[in-house]
Amino acid sequence: PTKLADRLSAVAPSATLAMAARAARLRADGHRVYSFGVGEPDFDTPEHIRIAAKAALDAGATHYTAVSGISELKSAICAATEQHRGWRPLPSQVTVSCGAKHALFNLATALFEPGDEVVIPAPYWVSYPEQVRLVGATPVIASTTEEMGFRLTADALQAALSPRVKAIILCTPSNPTGSAYAEEHLLPLLGVLRRHDCWIIVDEIYADLTYDGFRHVSLPALAEDLAPRVIVVDGVSKTFAMTGWRIGWSIAPTEVARALDVVQGQSTTNAAAVSQAAAVAALNGPRDAVFAMRAAFARRRALMVEGLNAVPGVRCRMPEGAFYAFADVRGLCGRTFQGTTLASDEDVATWMLEQAHVAAVAGTPFGAPGYLRFSYACDEDHIEAGLAALRRAVATLD
Ligand code: PLP
Repeated sequence: PTKLADRLSAVAPSATLAMAARAARLRADGHRVYSFGVGEPDFDTPEHIRIAAKAALDAGATHYTAVSGISELKSAICAATEQHRGWRPLPSQVTVSCGAKHALFNLATALFEPGDEVVIPAPYWVSYPEQVRLVGATPVIASTTEEMGFRLTADALQAALSPRVKAIILCTPSNPTGSAYAEEHLLPLLGVLRRHDCWIIVDEIYADLTYDGFRHVSLPALAEDLAPRVIVVDGVSKTFAMTGWRIGWSIAPTEVARALDVVQGQSTTNAAAVSQAAAVAALNGPRDAVFAMRAAFARRRALMVEGLNAVPGVRCRMPEGAFYAFADVRGLCGRTFQGTTLASDEDVATWMLEQAHVAAVAGTPFGAPGYLRFSYACDEDHIEAGLAALRRAVATLD
């Protein structure tokens, strides 16, 4: 009969879409909306990358490529991983996909099945549990606390493990919290993972965006002995402001890479040829533009976090990386606006959008009730004006 597949019933649609639609309505009504909801850099892709892409089109980058990516890109990924992550993979371990999200989905398809559990620390990027559910496996959410920097502890990891656990997905620096794992945070987790045979998937998409001298630690550089079960996911979207090009990749043990070749070969074939050429230019080219964008993010981070902490009822930890501030708004929950109580982070987000025209994303969909995620991938005037609007609106709460 004409009905949707059962697997969809377990999957939540993107929780941010309803907020985005409301923000769009306000904008269409002529309001200035302070948008802190987006998860992408506001910068354009650096010029030398765009020029290389145009040249690649004229040179014939208009055809199918090898399923796992062109060899120039796989070599560039290996060289960049050595230079910026401190370990060197082989090109045969690399699968280039249509964004890191797609690389993760390919991995879920290749590795997980009904009965499998996948440990995901909360707060988590919303797609991890939904992708796990889409392939019929079960996410096991491991809590973290803000006091521990939203980082998974060895005890919490141990408590989440069972013989059914097939994988863990770590994200550092993290979306939504911006918190990142230093060596001292990773080592105890590795101790636990050495005793439990499972895949260790690390999403390092924000690894080039860290601040105040925080140095990202790439897990394979710390634990060579775990190489047969570590899989790294990375991409150009965030580092090079290339979200629209859709290039991400996984670096996996070769037998996993071969399985990904089968999955991708029967679904998307290859990532767009011109985008792959652009990614080669990004990875092999100068990083001046990346450093300039990172410096801008660092200034905005300070402005956003200090500004949020200046709002009565809001508290925000200084994140180590990415471009998100994850604010505790429990001090606003329970307050009332014109007789209506703001009971949850979702109520606060809706009220904030309607009364202050400030758009942020509620923490509940990220597994973190009581928090809101503010992206600071926008200019400084916008941050200042948005936070001023928020302060004025909070003053009207009872
Ligand atoms: N991983 C994390 C943690 C992200 O925040 C995102 C994007 O928001 C992605 C992966 C996916 O990036 P893309 O598919 O653009 O490479």
